Amino acid sequence: MSNKLNYSMSLAKPDAKDFSLKQKVAIGIGIIGLFILVLALFNADINHSGWVLTTALGLIVLGTIWFSNSVYLSESKGIKNDGVWFKSISSRGLIGWATGIVLTLFYIVLYFYPHLLGLGKDGAPNTGLVALFDPLSQLLSGRPASQWFVYGALYTMAILVFGYKFFLKYRHNRYEQIRTGSVMFFQLAFAFLIPEFMYVMNSDLPYYDLKSIWPLNYYLFDSWSIKGFLSAGTIGLILLIFGVVSIFIITPILTYKYGKRWYCSWVCGCGGLAETAGDPFRHLSSKKLSSWKLERWLIHAVLVFSVVMTMATIYSFLGNNPDSYWLTKSLFIKLSIGFLSLIFLLFMLFKRKEFGKDAKNASIGYAVVISLVLIMHFTGTTDQIFFIKSSSLRSAYGLYIGSIFSGVIGTGFYPIFGSRVWCRFGCPMAAILGLQQRLLSKFRITTNGGQCISCGNCSTYCEMGIDVRAYAQKGENIVRSSCVGCGICSAVCPRGVLKLENDGLKGRINPTEILLGNDVNLMDLVNQNN
Ligand code: SF4
Ligand code: SF4
Repeated sequence: MSNKLNYSMSLAKPDAKDFSLKQKVAIGIGIIGLFILVLALFNADINHSGWVLTTALGLIVLGTIWFSNSVYLSESKGIKNDGVWFKSISSRGLIGWATGIVLTLFYIVLYFYPHLLGLGKDGAPNTGLVALFDPLSQLLSGRPASQWFVYGALYTMAILVFGYKFFLKYRHNRYEQIRTGSVMFFQLAFAFLIPEFMYVMNSDLPYYDLKSIWPLNYYLFDSWSIKGFLSAGTIGLILLIFGVVSIFIITPILTYKYGKRWYCSWVCGCGGLAETAGDPFRHLSSKKLSSWKLERWLIHAVLVFSVVMTMATIYSFLGNNPDSYWLTKSLFIKLSIGFLSLIFLLFMLFKRKEFGKDAKNASIGYAVVISLVLIMHFTGTTDQIFFIKSSSLRSAYGLYIGSIFSGVIGTGFYPIFGSRVWCRFGCPMAAILGLQQRLLSKFRITTNGGQCISCGNCSTYCEMGIDVRAYAQKGENIVRSSCVGCGICSAVCPRGVLKLENDGLKGRINPTEILLGNDVNLMDLVNQNN
């Protein structure tokens, strides 16, 4: 028997779980693979041929698969979150902070100093890490790698290998398995392979990840993007039309039928990484009321910024002469204001009750957008909008929202703030889908509150920081804009209280202030029948 002092009161197993020898060897193999990538990064004199890259990536994949097999296949099926608050990496310990800092530095270099990764400047050949990926890029599209290719390859690999780990962890849960298969497929095919093959078919086409929908794909309406699509012939035009159809037809229909989960947990790459590589960090999301308040202001502010910025971008390349092109600046402004006002009025007329207290905030948001659009129209000049060069406005959005928020903070800080910081606080796509999910969707999580034992597992593992237990205790449906429908709250519930469902709109939002569960008061029934 161990003589070690245990300060925990747990009778089960107070110590943090140590790694077995097999798991340590698996981690070692993965670290050797990573080390080869680090050697390349620091321009060590290593061969940049395909087999070195294959060895490095192969070792990482092998190490992760072996580790996952050892952790999960040696135990019975079921939730295995044991010891998450005892491991340094998943409890904001030293390893967690170190990982967060390294990831953040990687993002800073990737976005702002790509030459440090080895990207050749002005047509010079690549060196370092980027050169290591040249053979793979040549194989797929016949061109040298860029920093984005390296990032895409590593990102896809992370979703695939950690997706495998997730598969094993949740192998008792069909919903989680199918959902994970879906994000792995969309990342590999739509985000990584298809754009490379599209380049081979037509090198004039701008990079286009078919599943990245505006406003997440904030550069879709940039002049270089529009010009690229239009100059690429019929296929370019079809892709552009698909981009618009995705925004106005595909997204609303699917969100109406299934909630925002169809995108955030089944298709999106950001969600894909959060659900797979980010799974060990989901309990780190803040559950504070203040975080919920911050989330609502921040995500909708980014949405307003994103809408105005996109309108400004389109506005900046339109002319004033209807004889040159029918869509002039003033017609565009009128149509945009008309469209936004129509949407706002329809929601206020038919969804006022569901808005509740937020109707005031929605009105403020609408007024801000319309005011900004009018200011833009009446103060804008040929190349200045809001008294700033229009290209600078666009760059500021790309820098602060697209790079710093979504990349550096959103992913770099997984081990500190949890895996969905970007999806929860910053993604304008999540904001639009969330509005629709709350007001116009069949999706809800039903709660069989009478069964709830208030263990709090659901709230702990909700990556979006939703206090699921508070709803379960009241037997109230969970209809929250931020819920990405990952289903983990339902998976970890030991009592089968929570169920993700799609049904009619009537009675979907059923708030109750009283902690009743949904137990039936038998005396009420008896009295009613008398
Ligand atoms: S409430 Fe449940 S399904 Fe929704 S995001 Fe949280 S854990 Fe996922
Ligand atoms: S709903 Fe389930 S997981 Fe959540 S507190 Fe109740 S019993 Fe625990």
